[in-house]
Amino acid sequence: MPKMKCICGNIIKLNDIPNPNELLMISETEYDKYDGFVDSEKLYMEMKTIVKCDNCYRLYIYENGINEEPIIYQLEKGQWNKMI
Ligand SMILES: [Zn+2]
Repeated sequence: MPKMKCICGNIIKLNDIPNPNELLMISETEYDKYDGFVDSEKLYMEMKTIVKCDNCYRLYIYENGINEEPIIYQLEKGQWNKMI
């Protein structure tokens, strides 16, 4: 996936490795299975890939792998209220 077109029209470049537009995510539950020295390749395989648009900040979360359709999150407009 050398590049992709965001819904906003921006072309997200993904050819650099490591890439500032690709994020990695793991749940705390999955992460808690690791302790001490960690095999970075094994940890990498557990993580979900997220692609961030560097124009509109949409997030494309590849929950089921990079070859499946992502879940897309759009930046919320308005005021942020701290959780209480
Ligand atoms: Zn975008």
